[in-house]
Amino acid sequence: MVHVNIFDTTLRDGEQSPGVNLNQLEKLEIARQLERFGVNIMEAGFPASSQGDFEAVRAIARAIKNSSVTGLARATKSDIDIAWDALKDAAEPRLHVFLATSPIHMKYKLFKTPEEVIQTSVDMVAYAKQRFPHIEWSAEDASRSDLDFLVKIITKVIDAGATVINLPDTVGYATPSEYGYMFRYIRENVPNIHKASLSCHCHDDLGMAVANSLAAIENGVTQVEGTINGIGERAGNASLEEVAVALNIRRDKYPYTTNLVLKEIKRTSDLVSRFTGMIVPGNKAVVGKNAFAHESGIHQDGVLKNTLTYEIITPEMVGIQSNDLVLGKHSGRHAFKDKIENMGFTLSAEKLQEAFTAFKQLTDRKKEVTDEDLFTILTDIQTAVADVKKYELLAFQVHYGSANLPTATVALHTPEGVRVETARTGSGSVEALMNTLEALIKEEIHLTDYKLNSVGQGRDALAEVHVKMTVDGAQVSGRGSAQDVLEASAKAFLNTVNRVFFNQKAVVQV
Ligand SMILES: [Zn+2]
Repeated sequence: MVHVNIFDTTLRDGEQSPGVNLNQLEKLEIARQLERFGVNIMEAGFPASSQGDFEAVRAIARAIKNSSVTGLARATKSDIDIAWDALKDAAEPRLHVFLATSPIHMKYKLFKTPEEVIQTSVDMVAYAKQRFPHIEWSAEDASRSDLDFLVKIITKVIDAGATVINLPDTVGYATPSEYGYMFRYIRENVPNIHKASLSCHCHDDLGMAVANSLAAIENGVTQVEGTINGIGERAGNASLEEVAVALNIRRDKYPYTTNLVLKEIKRTSDLVSRFTGMIVPGNKAVVGKNAFAHESGIHQDGVLKNTLTYEIITPEMVGIQSNDLVLGKHSGRHAFKDKIENMGFTLSAEKLQEAFTAFKQLTDRKKEVTDEDLFTILTDIQTAVADVKKYELLAFQVHYGSANLPTATVALHTPEGVRVETARTGSGSVEALMNTLEALIKEEIHLTDYKLNSVGQGRDALAEVHVKMTVDGAQVSGRGSAQDVLEASAKAFLNTVNRVFFNQKAVVQV
């Protein structure tokens, strides 16, 4: 059996999804979960892109011990220097440096000749080698590059010290047979290829990212890059949970092993979905809500007689628990602590107390508190930012009647600690509330997207709101949950505005 390394780029390529912006605590929680999921390598960000990214990569590099942490760098000395500063404390620092190799990118984007692209790549890999023990070099837009040019440049970057050669399908253009053939050609024609390993990185523009990744593995690739839930630029990346489950279910066809712990798939997917606001569609393979639902009578009948008739993956395999043990009003602190540890949360004593109080408040209003409710409360508390100036909701009231003009009154504490209040109308209650909040906030705000979901089932379910807005020209997204939809909306609005104070977006000069 050949071992395949899993390289997760949820925190870099995934975070580049339009409208997604995670704060450092959310990135750290995702990183810890990826470590538990068993990824060999995680790309924590692009350190030279902003101060916020630099700090997040450094924090992850220091916290993660069982996966190698890497960061992206352009082929410049300053990007590599900044990446080293962010990654030097990692258990196994690793650099991911890239340069485009396709004729269209070299000519119209880089304004470089092929010879210059070779020289820059070789120089930068050699420069990075002075510090980094592991260097991955990526040929951006490899799938649209000339194969013999790739052979030439790969031979030289391996000589310069690259240990992994990544050949991405940057624009999601390749077909499985073409993409597989590229790797076979490289393996057969690059004389020193035994000194490096090959990696694939696929985008899903034509819906072929997972199929392309599997074709690459069949042609000698021993590292697969992708993201959780397939999030990423444009149509996203190869979905790692789909690759993992395909390799497992079809081991007859794919005799390859990975370190992944498949039971962690559900939790990893939930965490990424909740923090990014990129809700997983119901029909998504492996992690969609309907992936294990059998609707038609014939299918249901078959599954009841023998699950193998229509079920090729069991929910248990990917960590979906059927015995959802619920907590209620009489559950004590001990049962609560046991439960949340069981769910994979480790909280400080202070945050545990805060979570227990929130849980008790919820049991006053809701008879049964489910795992989904707890997951929502706990992730909010876990990633709440303390000691930062922010807007705080003091009170609000909304008047709505089909014959009246909806009106909202809101009182807030501003970041300067001043109490402010006002009232506004709107064409509906949510709009009235948002208009009022907007009137109280100094920053220039435009709401661009609003999504409302219920957490779990039942009429007393928690409401969860995800919003996207521009705050002083920067795109920001955030979320809020509460039992009432209007309270969840107000919380989501303020959570998003407050991110501006925490996520310093200042660009590092490079
Ligand atoms: Zn990509």
